[in-house]
Amino acid sequence: MPQENPKEKLRENLERVLRRIERSRLGYDAHHIVSLVAVSKYHSKEEVRALYEYGQRAFGENRVQDLRAKCEALDDLPLEWHFLGNLQENKINALLALRPSLVHSLDSLKLAQAIQKRLGDRKLRMLLQVNPTNETHKNGVSVEGAIELYEQICAECPNIILEGVMCIGENSTDRRVIEQGFARTRDVFDSLQHKGAKILSMGMSEYFEIAIAYGANLVRIGSRLFG
Ligand SMILES: *Cc1c(COP(=O)(O)O)cnc(C)c1O
Repeated sequence: MPQENPKEKLRENLERVLRRIERSRLGYDAHHIVSLVAVSKYHSKEEVRALYEYGQRAFGENRVQDLRAKCEALDDLPLEWHFLGNLQENKINALLALRPSLVHSLDSLKLAQAIQKRLGDRKLRMLLQVNPTNETHKNGVSVEGAIELYEQICAECPNIILEGVMCIGENSTDRRVIEQGFARTRDVFDSLQHKGAKILSMGMSEYFEIAIAYGANLVRIGSRLFG
């Protein structure tokens, strides 16, 4: 038996995930386009490089220091970096210096104001993180407060370009609970069309096909890609 080649395994994982995304998006709507962010936290820069060679461009990290290490180690590649994690105010400058393509985890007016203050004349693309079932251990704003907060950030923070909403899947094995979380986040997204919301970031390795069935157009997948 030939030894299993780890790069070959990554290629197979990527192909399998892309096939599943393709099937799900066609099931939703032939015109629906879904982006894939490969979540590389817990994985090495060599693995990121391998996925890049197989065509993947967008990667996500959830800690500023890990993002910085990967950005620096891979700055010869034209990668698109997404920041997904809880952002502490004392890390804002460090994050901005890395010029992330999109930050998915804005969850308060206070954080938005702190970022606005540090942006100067730069701009930052962000998503509002929603916590659709108000699970207390999770970041994100309630569905009830999301619309008002989104509008307030748009009004008060002109250098933050809010482009949509993100949610983390429910911590449950009950499919109805999972679906309810996605459906509620989708409702928030639909209510923000007048504000130009265009990105609905939901779905991780476990339930990304369900997320796409509820209209997700960006999925964040880690373990199913990297193994
Ligand atoms: C880790 C992480 C993911 C990916 O999770 P997997 O289950 O490994 O696919 C997606 N989104 C966020 C915010 C994460 O922290």
